[in-house]
Amino acid sequence: MLFGYHVSTAGGLHKAFDEAKELECTAIQIFVGSPQMWATPTVSDKEVEKFKTAQKNSNVKKVLVHSAYLPNPSSHKASLRNLSLKKLKDEAKIAYTIGADGYNFHCGSNQDSNQQGVAHAIATLNRLAELTDEKWPVKLILENDAGAGNRIGDTIEELGAIWKGLKNKKRFGFTLDTCHMFVSGIDLRTKKDISALLSKFDKLIGLTHLEFIHINDAKFGLGSKKDRHANIGEGEIGLTGFKYLLTNSKLKNVPFILETPRTGNLKSDLKDIRILKKMSNY
Ligand SMILES: [Zn+2]
Ligand SMILES: [Zn+2]
Repeated sequence: MLFGYHVSTAGGLHKAFDEAKELECTAIQIFVGSPQMWATPTVSDKEVEKFKTAQKNSNVKKVLVHSAYLPNPSSHKASLRNLSLKKLKDEAKIAYTIGADGYNFHCGSNQDSNQQGVAHAIATLNRLAELTDEKWPVKLILENDAGAGNRIGDTIEELGAIWKGLKNKKRFGFTLDTCHMFVSGIDLRTKKDISALLSKFDKLIGLTHLEFIHINDAKFGLGSKKDRHANIGEGEIGLTGFKYLLTNSKLKNVPFILETPRTGNLKSDLKDIRILKKMSNY
């Protein structure tokens, strides 16, 4: 099984593999620019080369690029949807160029209605697939959201509705974030909860399209809608639920990425990945 963290690219994209080594990662997630900015940096051929060489010399088998926080493909405002489409396209291009295994983003929010939000998400994402299809066909990965403030894609049903409208399905996949699911009201604390979740996902989308799991404990309770990640075993989900997730044979090929709070000390940060490896009998 593959495990890792969201790692820092301070000093250059290839620096991700330095932190990945310290954190004993076999899969990583990175940003390719500042997550709070609309502008996307250009990545030179030399940087791409450095990134690919660093990965070759590492134990990292899967790289996921996480989008900036700003894009909102479901917005009720056409101007924001267009700006989002451009941003998603620019970052997807970088993700493809560096050889990443996926480009992960959120579906955004809609102030008018969920139904309209889903329709806009479908239209924006179909266009994104068209725009990147020929030159930068990186896997476009939708992440489930935490459910607060008219967010789109916080339930498996809503992700399923978006999936249904996507035309070129081979271009798309999904990330499920355990903290987001839990605070959106999807319980994960028992074996029964995990089986129910996986059968629902399989029925509405198909487990082969589950590309990554963001494995985070939740600081707040079931259905609280408050997205604050906690370290593994230190939040409201707790170790039992994670154990069932990590030992479910249906998920053995899905990389698990941690987005848990950091201490500022990489040695102490290793605690979370070591718990995952131990619980999965890795
Ligand atoms: Zn996440
Ligand atoms: Zn989150």
